[in-house]
Amino acid sequence: MNGATSPSASPQHGLTDRLARWAKGLSGKADDDEGGAEDQRPRAGSAANREVTRRRRLYEEIGDFLFAHDLDLTPINFSVALDYLTGANIGVEKAIKAVLMERGKITNGWIESVAASQNPDEVTPDSLATMLDKVEENLTQFTGLMHESRNSAKDYGAALQEQAKGLAEGGDAEPVLARLVGLTRSMVEKTRLVETQLRENQKQTQALKSSLENARRAAEHDHLTGLPNRRAFEGVLREEVKLAQDNGETLSVAFCDIDHFKHVNDTHGHETGDRVLKFVAGLLAKVSNDHCHVARHGGEEFVMLFRGKTAAEACEAVDAVREDLSTRSLVNRTNGERMERVSFSAGVANVLAYEDPRSALKAADRALYLAKEHGRNRVYLAAETD
Ligand code: GH3
Ligand code: MG
Ligand code: MG
Repeated sequence: MNGATSPSASPQHGLTDRLARWAKGLSGKADDDEGGAEDQRPRAGSAANREVTRRRRLYEEIGDFLFAHDLDLTPINFSVALDYLTGANIGVEKAIKAVLMERGKITNGWIESVAASQNPDEVTPDSLATMLDKVEENLTQFTGLMHESRNSAKDYGAALQEQAKGLAEGGDAEPVLARLVGLTRSMVEKTRLVETQLRENQKQTQALKSSLENARRAAEHDHLTGLPNRRAFEGVLREEVKLAQDNGETLSVAFCDIDHFKHVNDTHGHETGDRVLKFVAGLLAKVSNDHCHVARHGGEEFVMLFRGKTAAEACEAVDAVREDLSTRSLVNRTNGERMERVSFSAGVANVLAYEDPRSALKAADRALYLAKEHGRNRVYLAAETD
């Protein structure tokens, strides 16, 4: 049993395939030259040879770039370096030039945020602004169509009345009837036009609705672990406090923070660190149900909310996960080496025993701090007089 080795723990952003293709290209080795027959190799000075040289140079440049900035060998860093050095992604190129001018240095964390902002699935302020512009445009168009159709109906009614008056006054019926037919035709035509435009508008509104729904989901989920994020947790906390108060139930909160996680990253690399994070998230998520919510609060910290459990019971539940994790022997998938034990510490508090939920979260955080101070790999219950 070992999540850090799980095949599902693939690198984020779906870059693996792209990198694999790219690396294959760099090696200059086509699928069908596996035998490496001498006479199939490109001759010196040939176009193919120049291409191999160009690729090799690019390969070296990427290595130099990563090394110069002390960046980890992660798919994201490779991809961003490739985009920068080949100019394949103008957004990346611009962002790197700007940060180099400003700070002269690039870090792993900074690259992650740039990669996230280049990911079209990610909700960025720009993509949200575009969606909102579209919603506004659709609404304006819809209001215009409604206005237009109301005015045409009004004009049609007035014209009908005018012609009907002519008929009632006993004039020649034939030209009046001809005008009525003409009027009706033009009204039918206008109605059809408005109908088509409304249908188009409705289609766009549907598409926008689903984009907004995706954006909302993405804005509330952490893309690495798939867990709800801190923002989502805050909404859940408000709902759960109300539910617990209305039903006279207990509500407990727990903060769990992976121990010495920086050391895990430093020893095994950021990518393995990410896999450990996903693994811990998976273990915690196993406990979740209608009465237990788990979220990634940020970094290597998770938060859990238990409705219907006293703080002592919540402590027990969290401690069971802690024990499970700390007795596992994880293997670094990158090199097959066994890793040192991974553990977390936690602090638990009874939410309704405090003046407001914020104070309860602070109390749980203080308990977590004490658990760290007293040796880590333990779960502490906050004193209610905190
Ligand atoms: P402690 O036991 O006191 O909590 O020590 P720690 O090393 O876990 O705590 P510290 O706050 O010093 O370091 C947290 C580290 O977690 C630093 C940061 O790079 C890493 N980290 C935060 N988010 C991520 C992430 O998404 N992926 C990876 N791989 N590392 C992350
Ligand atoms: Mg930590
Ligand atoms: Mg922390």
